[in-house]
Amino acid sequence: MRYVSTRGDTVPMPFSQAVLTGLAPDGGLLVPERFPDVADKLDAWRELSYVELAQEIFRLYVDDIPAADLDAIVADAFTAFDHPDIVPLVDLGDFKVLELFHGPTLSFKDVALQTLGRVFDYLLGKSGQHLNIVGATSGDTGSAAIYGVRGRENLSIFVLYPNGGTSALQELQMTAVPDANVHCLAIDGSFDDCQSILKSTFGDLAFKARHRLGAVNSINWARVLAQMSYYVHVCLRSEGPAVFAVPTGNFGNIFAAIAVRGMGVPIGRFVLATNDNDILARFFRTGVYRRGAVHQTISPSMDIQVASNLERFLWLRFGRNPERVKRFMAEFATSGEAAVVDGKGVDDSVDAVAVAETDTRTAMRDIHRRYGYVADPHSAVGIEAARRVASKTPDGTKPVCIATAHPAKFPDAVIEAIGSSARDAARHPRLDCLDAASARRAVLPADIEAVKNYIGDHASRQ
Ligand SMILES: *Cc1c(COP(=O)(O)O)cnc(C)c1O
Repeated sequence: MRYVSTRGDTVPMPFSQAVLTGLAPDGGLLVPERFPDVADKLDAWRELSYVELAQEIFRLYVDDIPAADLDAIVADAFTAFDHPDIVPLVDLGDFKVLELFHGPTLSFKDVALQTLGRVFDYLLGKSGQHLNIVGATSGDTGSAAIYGVRGRENLSIFVLYPNGGTSALQELQMTAVPDANVHCLAIDGSFDDCQSILKSTFGDLAFKARHRLGAVNSINWARVLAQMSYYVHVCLRSEGPAVFAVPTGNFGNIFAAIAVRGMGVPIGRFVLATNDNDILARFFRTGVYRRGAVHQTISPSMDIQVASNLERFLWLRFGRNPERVKRFMAEFATSGEAAVVDGKGVDDSVDAVAVAETDTRTAMRDIHRRYGYVADPHSAVGIEAARRVASKTPDGTKPVCIATAHPAKFPDAVIEAIGSSARDAARHPRLDCLDAASARRAVLPADIEAVKNYIGDHASRQ
């Protein structure tokens, strides 16, 4: 399998190179040159465990790592999950919930980042190299990336976050990790400051090469690949074509579902759910992709206005024509707005719903009252969106709502919405045992040189 750029100006490359490259040199995203059709494999796959299924799917897209090594990486990644089903499917009567939050940091990002950390470590070990991962987080992604990298021999990680701009719990999930290859940088500034420092650091190509900097951000193809397995897993257990409701920010999770449909796996409809940051919901409803202001919500991992993974969808939508992708992205970059203008609608199988902040709180309360289920605010956005479009799903098909975080990650929002009866559900032993006494961090000014000096002093060399 070779990977091509959505913008068409990059020489096709094998998986290993695509993973280590991240963003394509022409500014596009890397996509597999084809999506293998698996329709005739589905019957046989029904017998497989979750890990075996994930191994099958990885093998379809990775042909430059020996199969035995790849299988071992995938199997090892899921040992970090503490539920026997890894991704349990909970039936609540009117709908089902696919819980993707049983990994080490209790968010669905663990599914991809546990695998990606191991893939990086393996590839670097083969070539005798070391990489320093640098990232910025407003809260959630940082801990999932740290847990994917901690203790890995060939990797170090530096995570920038706004000092005082995350919840105390989110910060502790990062800073309490004791491994020497983990560096938490609390920046005296905003998340935007962190991102612009990150951008300048990567933009200094000499610095980037000297310190072997890399990224594990959400545009990495391996993250999408790791997320495909759970959609196939659910479809193998569905009576008819499945309906998925996915709370969306960067369009990574839902893109994996759309890619799976492209492999001949029966999926009927997609419910795309956003919070007040509704750029994607507006795009799918109107065809116009228009940047707006970022609103802070109780589902902060979806407080995003520019969805970095949408370009992969556009590439498929535009018949894999890189010229059309380039035109759309260039227009959006210059004017903050671009549109799909071929008169066909963006995608008939997607129902796009924006759930406002007050409705998310009401939904959390109502889901708890009716079904006895405590959903975190992100998962509640997806469930509420599914309930709003229920009349469009064929009779008897229960939508499968993707639960992306454990309620214990957002205890304040959960208890505020549901009340103190949710207090126990809003706790988790993995969080209870975090020890503030052992937290380590460096506080730095929002200054590019200060951050670069810190990285320069602490980067591992090899
Ligand atoms: C990242 C994240 C999302 C959004 O996922 P995308 O792939 O960016 O659409 C939703 N919920 C939680 C809890 C997340 O951490």
